[in-house]
Amino acid sequence: MDISVIIPVCDEEENLEILSTKLKSVLDKLQKDYEIIFIDDGSTDRSYQVLKNLAKNNSGIKLIKFRKNYGKTAAIAAGVKASNGNYIVTIDGDLQNDPEDIPLMLQKIDHGYDVVSGWRQNRKDNPLLTNFPSVVANKIISFMTGVKLRDNGCFLKVFRAETLKDISLYGEMHRFIVPLACMEGA
Ligand code: UDP
Ligand code: MG
Repeated sequence: MDISVIIPVCDEEENLEILSTKLKSVLDKLQKDYEIIFIDDGSTDRSYQVLKNLAKNNSGIKLIKFRKNYGKTAAIAAGVKASNGNYIVTIDGDLQNDPEDIPLMLQKIDHGYDVVSGWRQNRKDNPLLTNFPSVVANKIISFMTGVKLRDNGCFLKVFRAETLKDISLYGEMHRFIVPLACMEGA
């Protein structure tokens, strides 16, 4: 398997079909083997029914379902564990990341990098509530871990699978997933 795409999902019923159609069209063009792993993190809307329908019509889609909401970190950990790809792509399920960026990131990682991390530019969020705290948080994370990254919070990332397989993720540690991968030698 070349590529595993991991998507944590909590109450995204209206986004899943659009996302999976976009993802499929982008990934099919790459002519590589891929799997898309959705982790339903205890959704209380119709997300899981929507996902089951998508999976029925598409053998490349795998589903993991949590009985209750365990949080994004746990969802990602489950996805990593279930993945078979040489590369792991992480992407949000709420359409805030664009699948069209994935081929560019795969191209970059093919140059010999272990991790390629997205950076959200021109964020539409409220600058005082979101952008400013985020700049401060990223500076603190960079300072404390020595891994200088502009946007730890952007979840569109590509990893060589071995950089994630040995790290244990719990709590809210998905926010530090790149520094953690670097501590593993990435
Ligand atoms: N998510 C999840 N479990 C949670 C909260 C969120 O799996 O407890 C998923 C959510 O469905 C989305 C992604 O994680 O696909 C990012 O969530 P959100 O948009 O809330 O985070 P932000 O964009 O603020 O980082
Ligand atoms: Mg979001």
